[in-house]
Amino acid sequence: MNIKFNKLNYPVMKKFDIDKAIAILSKRVKELKTPIVDLVKAQTNEPWKVLVATILSARTTDSTTSQAVSKLFKRVNNIDDLSRMPVSRIEKLIYPVGFYRNKAKFLKKLPGELKKLFKGRIPDSVEELIRLPGVGRKTANLVVSVGFNRPAVCVDTHVHRIMNIWGYVKTKNPLETEMALRKKLDKKYWISINSILVAYGQSICRPVSPRCNECDIEFLCPQTGVTPRKIKKKTSSNKNNLSLISWNVNGIRASVKKGFIDFVKDSKADIIAVQETKAQPEQLSEEIINIPGYTSYWFSAKRKGYSGVGIFSKLKPISIINGINKKEFDDEGRALTLEYETFYFVNCYFPNSQHELLRLDYKLRFNEAILKYCRKLSRKKSVIICGDFNVAHKAIDLKNPKSNEQNPGYSLPERNSMDKFIDSGFIDTFRMFNKGPDNYTWWSYRFNARERNIGWRIDYFCVDKKSESRVVNAEILPDITGSDHCPVSLEWK
Ligand code: SF4
Repeated sequence: MNIKFNKLNYPVMKKFDIDKAIAILSKRVKELKTPIVDLVKAQTNEPWKVLVATILSARTTDSTTSQAVSKLFKRVNNIDDLSRMPVSRIEKLIYPVGFYRNKAKFLKKLPGELKKLFKGRIPDSVEELIRLPGVGRKTANLVVSVGFNRPAVCVDTHVHRIMNIWGYVKTKNPLETEMALRKKLDKKYWISINSILVAYGQSICRPVSPRCNECDIEFLCPQTGVTPRKIKKKTSSNKNNLSLISWNVNGIRASVKKGFIDFVKDSKADIIAVQETKAQPEQLSEEIINIPGYTSYWFSAKRKGYSGVGIFSKLKPISIINGINKKEFDDEGRALTLEYETFYFVNCYFPNSQHELLRLDYKLRFNEAILKYCRKLSRKKSVIICGDFNVAHKAIDLKNPKSNEQNPGYSLPERNSMDKFIDSGFIDTFRMFNKGPDNYTWWSYRFNARERNIGWRIDYFCVDKKSESRVVNAEILPDITGSDHCPVSLEWK
C-alpha cells in the first residue's frame, strides 16, 4: 500500500477526521486569544454592537479592530447615535481599520437603513443582513452565528485556508468553501467553526509559516500546500549583534494580508528593509506604519502603486537619506539610506531590465550610480547594502542558467555589472557561508516554481570589503511566504 506522510512524518489518512480535529482544537483555542467579534458578544450581548464590530473587523486585524471598537463604543451608546455623528467624527474614531472612510459612511447610514428595511430591528438572517450597507456574506454569517447563536457558516480567509490545508474541501475562494461546508459540515459545528479556526489561524496555523511544531493536530493534518515554520537556529550567543532582514514584499499592503506583521514581530530583527512597497506612506494603515517597537521610514515612487522602499528600525538613525540625488532614480523610489553610528544601511530596489531588455540602459545607469554612491559612503564608515538586485550573479544562482542567458536578470551586461560591483570592493555575504547550489530568493508564480524550487537568487546583503569581519552570518529564509521573493538576513556585529 502506498502510504503518504505529512511533513512531520505522520501518515496521512485518506479521510480527514474533522470531529477529532474540532474536538481537540475547541479545547486548545480556550487558551488562545478570543476573536474580537466573539469578545464583543461575550462582553455586551448586544446584536447591534456585534454587527458594528463585525463591519469594522473586515480586512482588519483583531488588535486594530479592538482599539477602534473600544474608542467607538465609548462615544456611541446606542445605534441611533451613529446617524447623529458626522462621518468625519466616525472616521476619526475607527481609524485605522481597513477602508475606514467607506466603513464610516456605512455606519452613518446603518440606523436609517435598519429603520427603513426592518423597522429598526437588527435582522437575524443572512439574506436580510446582506441588504445593509457594508455587510457582505461573511459579515452576515458572523452576525447570525455570533450575534444570534443561530447556525450559519461564516467563512473568512482562515476558515477557507485551513479547511483546504486539511483537504476537507478543495475550493478556490471563501464563497465556494462556504457552500461546500454547508453541504458537508455537521450543523452542530456551524456556529463555532469560525471562532475556532480564526483563533487557531491567528496564533498557530498562521498564513505564513504555520507553527506545526506547536500544533495539537499535527498527527491528523495532511498539511496540503504548507511550508511549516522552521525553528530558527541561534547563530550567535552575542546579543549585541544586530539581526537585519531584507525582503522584496511585492506590495506591502498585499503582504500585510498574508501575515507580514506577524513575520516582523516573530523575526525580532533590529532592522527590516522592504522593497517594491507599491504604496505612498499616506496609503498605509496605522498597523503597518507603527508596528510596535519599530519606527518606519518610506521612500516611494512618484507613480502610485509602483516600486518604492521602506525600512523598519528598532534603532534610531543619525540621519535619513532619501534617494541618491539622481532624479531619474529618485522619482522611482529606488534607494533609502539610514545612517547609524558605525554604519550606513542602504536599502535598494534595483530596476528590472524588463522584457527584451527594454530598460537595460536605465538599469545599468542605476547600477553605476548606486556603486558610486556606496563607495563614497564607505570612505566614512561601514556600508551594508541590501535589497532586490534583480540579477542572478553566477550560474549557480539560478536553476536554468543556460536558457536564461539572454533574459532579464541574467543577461551578460547585467552579470558584468554585478561583477564590477563585487570587484569594486563589496562582498556577497551569503556566499561567505554557503557555496552550494539550489539557494534561491525568487520564484515565478507560474508552473509551481516555488514548490519545485525552480528559482533565482536575486536578493542580497552586501557589505564593503573592509567590514568583512563584522559579518557573523548570512542566510536565505525560503520558508517565509507572502511574496514571490523570500527574505534574506544578515547577522552583524
Ligand atoms: S499548524 Fe500545521 S499541522 Fe497544524 S493544522 Fe496548520 S498546517 Fe496542519
